[in-house]
This record gives sequence, C-alpha cells and structure tokens, in this order.
Amino acid sequence: MILDSFRLDGRVALVTGGNRGLGLGCVTALAEAGAEVAVLGRSGAAGAALHVPCDLATATPSDLSAAVRTVLDELGRLDILVNNAGIIRRDDATAVTTADWDDVLTVDLNAVWHLSQAAGRVMLDRPGGGKIINIASMLSFQGGIRVPAYAAAKHAVVGLTKALANEWAAHGVNVNAVAPGYMATDNTSALRDDQARATAILDRIPAARWGTPADLAGAVVFLASDAAAYIHGTVLPVDGGWLAR
Ligand code: NDP
Repeated sequence: MILDSFRLDGRVALVTGGNRGLGLGCVTALAEAGAEVAVLGRSGAAGAALHVPCDLATATPSDLSAAVRTVLDELGRLDILVNNAGIIRRDDATAVTTADWDDVLTVDLNAVWHLSQAAGRVMLDRPGGGKIINIASMLSFQGGIRVPAYAAAKHAVVGLTKALANEWAAHGVNVNAVAPGYMATDNTSALRDDQARATAILDRIPAARWGTPADLAGAVVFLASDAAAYIHGTVLPVDGGWLAR
C-alpha cells in the first residue's frame, strides 16, 4: 500500500532546533506520522520524546557524537536526522565581523556536518539504513541581501548533502535537503514587520503568501519515509514558487 510507505511507525528521529519555528513543525509532523522524536537544542522540547540539551554554537564534534549516542541510549535507535537549527546575521559584507561569520558557519554548516557524520556512522550498512534531511534555503541558490555568511553556509549545505548522498546511497542512507522560501517564523519577523519589504516579498512569491511550518513539514516527512527510498542528493524547494520565478 503506497500510503503505508509514508508512515514512520517504529522509527526514531532527531530534530535539531525542534522547540519552535520550522523545527517544531517537523517534530509535530514526524510524531503524527508515527515516529518517536528527540529534539536537540538549547531550550526545552514540548511534545518530544526526549530533549538532548546542546548549544550548537559551542558544542565540540565529540559533544555532537555524544548527543547521537544519547538518542541511541534513551530511545534505542536513530533512523532519521533533521538538521534544522540555524541562525542568520544581517550586515553589509564589509562590516561582517569574524565572530559573526564563525557563528553562522558553526551552527549552519559545521554542526550539520558533525551530526551527519555521527548519524552516518550509526545508519550505514544496517538493516533499514537511515534518512538525513538538511534544512537548506532558497539562499542555497541565491546570494540574498546582506547575508554573506548565511548564503555561504546554505550553499555549502547543498554541497554536503550531495557529497554524502553520493557516498552513502549504496549503504542504505538517503541524504536530501529541503529549501524553504520565506516562512513565517521568528527568523523572518523583522522582515514581516517592515511593511514595505513584506509587501515587496509577497509580490514576488508566486503563491502570494508566506510559508508555514506545516508547509515544510510535509516535505520532511516524505523525505524521511520509505516513499522517498530512491531519492538521494536532491534539494526540494518549499518556497511557494520563489525559485521558479
Ligand atoms: P527560528 O529562528 O524560528 O528557529 C531557529 C531554531 O534554531 C530554534 O529552535 C533555535 O533554538 C535553534 N538554534 C539556533 N541557534 C542554536 C544553537 N546555537 N544551538 C541549538 N539550537 C539553535 O528559525 P526557523 O524555524 O525559521 O528556521 C529553521 C531552519 O530553516 C534554519 O536552518 C533556517 O536557516 C532555515 N530557513 C528558514 C527560512 C525562513 O524563512 N524562516 C527560510 C530558509 C531557511 P533556540 O530556541 O534555543 O534559539
């Protein structure tokens, strides 16, 4: 039955930054699809089966390996990793500080790499394999305005997604990404509060509305499921048509 292949019963998922925004939408949807969901992050994780406390800005690679081990110890397995946590810093390229550059690259790229590596070591060549889903961005394909570190990190996330997919597809692990467009979360509240910019953005989105966490969660559940078994190294835009324009 095709619909059964979308179910995630018996699977364990780990979502970074699953306490709010797009990550919370993923946690809710993965749980509705049947998965037990752990949340890695600084804050609590209402509705999750497990909270793995971790600050991705300061965590070492071995902290991140330990976080994956915690999920194995507490929930018994790890089938799905959603690298969702992310930060953005807006500034003119000439004014970006080294600290800001490093913070963005640490959270938006390095943590994705270290967690994927730790998860891959668990998932490769075991029955059932695994799924890794990276939350990229439309700025994985465009330069954006005054966000050089973010655009660089999100472009690199796509490169990493393809590199890992290429290496791990034959070992039962699907690595894919989703690329949100303009979504209504805390991340974009300043943009939405700026009437002129918000109107300009809406005018350019073919779907003529901001995306929601639920819009993104459907794509993540799909890529986490057996329905996506033959999909490797793809980046699925969830952007109301932004990149098609
Ligand atoms: P939010 O700002 O609403 O939430 C960010 C999440 O990341 C929070 O859960 C936050 O946790 C977590 N996080 C940030 N820094 C750290 C850290 N150092 N350690 C652990 N967790 C951290 O963002 P969105 O939900 O909008 O974005 C989610 C993902 O989607 C990001 O990767 C973002 O780049 C991407 N994206 C978002 C778009 C949008 O329009 N919203 C567009 C394109 C991509 P805490 O509560 O502790 O701060």
